[in-house]
Order: sequence, then C-alpha cells, then structure tokens
Amino acid sequence: MPELPEVEVTRQSFAERIAGARVTAVRLGKPLRWPLGHEPATLVGQRVGDATRRGKYLWLPLSADVDAAGSGAQSGGLLMHLGMSGSLAFSDAPGPAGAHDHFDLATTRGTLRLTDPRRFGAVVWSEALDGGAAGKLIAGLGLEPFDPAFTGTYLHAALQRRRVAIKQALLGGDIVVGAGNIYACEALFAAGISPRLRSDRLSRPRAERLAAAVRETLARALALGGSTLRDFRDAHGMAGAFQQHAGVYGREGEPCTVCATPIRRIVQGQRSTFFCPHCQR
Ligand SMILES: [Zn+2]
Repeated sequence: MPELPEVEVTRQSFAERIAGARVTAVRLGKPLRWPLGHEPATLVGQRVGDATRRGKYLWLPLSADVDAAGSGAQSGGLLMHLGMSGSLAFSDAPGPAGAHDHFDLATTRGTLRLTDPRRFGAVVWSEALDGGAAGKLIAGLGLEPFDPAFTGTYLHAALQRRRVAIKQALLGGDIVVGAGNIYACEALFAAGISPRLRSDRLSRPRAERLAAAVRETLARALALGGSTLRDFRDAHGMAGAFQQHAGVYGREGEPCTVCATPIRRIVQGQRSTFFCPHCQR
C-alpha cells in the first residue's frame, strides 16, 4: 500500500513539470473508489497549478480563465488517492491506456495517468482542498509529521486521551499522518517503546522521543525514495527498498540490530507488528 513517503515522492516526480500546463483531455476508465463528481469536459482548457500533498492525498489545483467563464467552467482541483495499489505517472508519450489505467489527465506538457489494478484509489473534483468533496475527505486528518506543531507536547497530550495500544493510536492517522504500518513499527523501535503500551501511559519525555522518531523515520524513507526515484516504477518498489533497511519490520525471528534478541511478530488490529521485546518497553 502506498504510504505517505511514496505519495510525496510521487508528487515530486511530476509537480514541477505539470505546473502551468493546460488540460487538453480527460479520460475516465472503470469506476474508482469515489466518482469524479464533475463533468470531465469542463476541465479541458483549465490551467494546472502547484501540486500539494495532505496526508496520502495529492491536490492538483485547476483554474479556469476569466474569459472561459462563459462556458460554465469553474475553478477547483483534483484530489487524488492511490488507494491500495495505485500509482501515478507523468509522461510525454503515455501510449494507449491499459486495462488498469483508469484516469488520464492529458495536458500540454504530458499526461498524468493513474494505474490502479484494485481500484481503491480515486480522483475527485472539488471546489477547494479545504472545502467541498475534498474538505470532507481530509477533515479528520492529524498533523503532518514535518509540521512544526507536531511536537512531543502535542503528541503526549493527544495520547493522554486514548486507551488503545500506542501502535493503534499512531496508525489511526488522526493524531499524526504518515505513520502507516511499516513506519509506525520502525518509529516505535527507534524510540524504544513497546507497540503494546497503552497510549495514555506514555511519559512526556518518551513522547518527545517518539515524535522525533516518527519525523526521522519518515525523513529517512523520503530520502531513500528521492535517491531511488529513477529506479522504481511504482510506490511498491520504494516500500521494498525501505524494508531492506528496516530495523524490525518483516524481520520476525531475526536478531535485533541493537541487542541480538530475536524480533517478534504479533497481530494488532489485523496488522502485523514487529518489535524487539528487549529494546522496546
Ligand atoms: Zn533489541
């Protein structure tokens, strides 16, 4: 599943090239998780702005010219999500759409294409990122991990209100976004915190360490994605590359890199958790 670092690296792969382009055609394939919610033809002629990211969503602003207003075109943007298996590629010569290519945004600078075999991804038109359809989808998201407001104090206060295991609180995404399964396991290992610890029992100093570990783990994944961008064709390749450098994730039974205790795997909320029973308390 594409996680925040993969989505951010995807954004960086096309944002500069597509900015300022004009939409020349929109092609829809099979239905995705949510409908576009807008007449595709009205997007033709609109200008693409700067692509941004919020959580695992990408936002592509589109603006209609004043002189095109007579045709009923309305400025807004496209909110994109890669779902379980989606990937976005921007190309000068995308070729004919394949069986799993379900959205094309053709522009004067190239075509942005969503390929999504399982179709849990989506492209949704919205009048604004913080309003309309997009506003509803992003309303419950927690802070961005690199937001200066994401501090140990904030994390500690948020965890004080939870009774669930700390890994579940991180995965929820309503305190901080980006700590998906791999990255939550790695951050807890880096901070020396048991994934089973009840959220409200985490001390203030340990919350400081955890906030730093979440930021550092995601920064490391981003750096890895940036350096391997040319080599990976989709987001899964990048997750695989990160896992090769993982301290605990996917390493059940292998020795801890710090203390050599065998790494354990447990299931929390139907997801595998990997941890060192000696280093993480
Ligand atoms: Zn250990």
